[in-house]
Amino acid sequence: MSVQADIVERVAFDVEAVRRDFPILAREVHGKPLVFFDSAASAQKPRQVLEAERRIYEHEYANVHRGIHYLSQICTDRMETAREKVRAFLNAASAREIVFTRNTTESINLVAASWGRHFLKEGDEVVISEMEHHSNIIPWQFLRDEKGILLRVAPVGDDGEFLLNEFAEMLNERTRLVAITHMSNVLGTVVPVRDVVRMAHQAGAKVLLDGAQAVTHIPVDVRDLDCDFYAFSGHKLYGPSGIGVLYAKEALLDAMPPYMGGGEMIRSVTFEAAEWADLPYKFEAGTPAIAQAVGLGAAIDYVTGLGLHAIGAHESDLLAYANQRLASIDGLKLIGTAPGKASVLSFTMSCAHPHDIGTLVDRAGIAIRVGHHCAQPLMDRLGVAATARASFGLYNTRAEIDVLTEALEGVREFFG
Ligand code: PMP
Repeated sequence: MSVQADIVERVAFDVEAVRRDFPILAREVHGKPLVFFDSAASAQKPRQVLEAERRIYEHEYANVHRGIHYLSQICTDRMETAREKVRAFLNAASAREIVFTRNTTESINLVAASWGRHFLKEGDEVVISEMEHHSNIIPWQFLRDEKGILLRVAPVGDDGEFLLNEFAEMLNERTRLVAITHMSNVLGTVVPVRDVVRMAHQAGAKVLLDGAQAVTHIPVDVRDLDCDFYAFSGHKLYGPSGIGVLYAKEALLDAMPPYMGGGEMIRSVTFEAAEWADLPYKFEAGTPAIAQAVGLGAAIDYVTGLGLHAIGAHESDLLAYANQRLASIDGLKLIGTAPGKASVLSFTMSCAHPHDIGTLVDRAGIAIRVGHHCAQPLMDRLGVAATARASFGLYNTRAEIDVLTEALEGVREFFG
């Protein structure tokens, strides 16, 4: 993006106007205005997404890809238009490289169960990192137990930074895959994925990036990154739940066997044999999440309309402000302070367990996440059982951070 366009986007970002697009933000919780700081778990939905789904169900709904009747054709067209939006959003070379799944978890499982099971053998190595979400650990453990692959874990530093040199030392001629998060859901750390991809490719390994968090904050260009697989979920990108994406290079998808069998994924079937459908349908068995895919397309229109750079700048401002405000609270410790981190703020308080923090701030109408955030090995590495986590989305404001700060002061006073 040009500097000029970036400035136009920044000037144009009007958070109050954005908030009016999200009906749920007008509600109260426990008699207080809702402050929603849990977008990293799942983001709220703008009217544009709600309306896109409603329009389908009210006026256009039918099953896709099979019918020659009018509604079926409309829905097929809507769904393929959504796929094209995802393609453009990721700058993939072709819509054949965009597989619709249920979520990031299914996208990663698809790669493990198809590519992994087919192409990996005993002694092959898969590198993940200490800050992976369980969804990027367990599928590889399945493969380890089934095929005897070795799972290697790249370390993070005490501030939550990704240790590139230590990662580089793990690569060798047995490394077949690097499966790593683009952005940590606990620490906010943004992994230098361009370097990761370059180094992994030099070692002859493929790269899967877990983009569940990154995709909402950072413009992603899969061709520029040159990653082999990229996974994300619609629901964190202000789209519906039940729809996710796996991007994969076409040659890989071509070589991979189907993941699930059934309708939609075949060209022809006899009782003896079957031929697979073209990409990406080979990987989309069964009736897909039609309205959800269309809703995801609307969500992509929404965020690209605002501009990912503008959103990122707004959220960086919130993060900097929150860092400064929360630092003033006695006994509060920020977990994850890597340079360049994005809008997730984990913390502990010496006076209270994270669950107590969560319960008390909830009474003030504030939604934060507490617990292990589906990253128990990272909690072990950090030496904490749980953290409290405030995560910021495009609709959050500095005033809401003031409300959180006040509530956390209240927690400190309550527990003394
Ligand atoms: N990876 C990361 C980094 C995440 O934050 C999440 C969701 N918390 C996931 C994977 C899994 O996403 P989903 O539950 O939508 O499959």
